[in-house]
Amino acid sequence: MRCPFCGAEDTRVIDSRLASEGEQVRRRRKCSACEERFTTYELAELTMPRVIKSNAAREPFHDEKLRAGIMRALEKRPVTIDQAEAAISRIRKKVLMSGEREVTSALIGELVLTELRHLDEVAYIRFASVYQRFGSMAEFRKMIDRMQSEHPNAPTISTDFLE
Ligand SMILES: [Zn+2]
Repeated sequence: MRCPFCGAEDTRVIDSRLASEGEQVRRRRKCSACEERFTTYELAELTMPRVIKSNAAREPFHDEKLRAGIMRALEKRPVTIDQAEAAISRIRKKVLMSGEREVTSALIGELVLTELRHLDEVAYIRFASVYQRFGSMAEFRKMIDRMQSEHPNAPTISTDFLE
């Protein structure tokens, strides 16, 4: 690998270690010519399937979109960034392992709901309400009632959007 400082072709790896829970290799390199050090990251190239939206349009899988949806649901909830990132990583893995070249946004929504259900019930309801993944309004209302009776101190969830 060419040195980014002087362009010399001879650089040596002086240290390698795993990063991001073993999904990346981080290498420290040193240029034999100018002796500058720099870091490179190596990760497997994985192609995420394309996403089929509800209007049948296809778009690339956007990590940021997935993350934004989950973070919005988790706003002000007692869930750490690490827990959220681990959930995101499991969702990506499941999407990849489907082996499909295209997956529906509904499938991704289901995977998100499965993760949120384990992480935080309020976040789960928030996400579900946005994606309207409940079979019926009655089912949704029943779920909110049950949750609020089990967690009387949880913030009240507005059901205005059902009206
Ligand atoms: Zn150099």
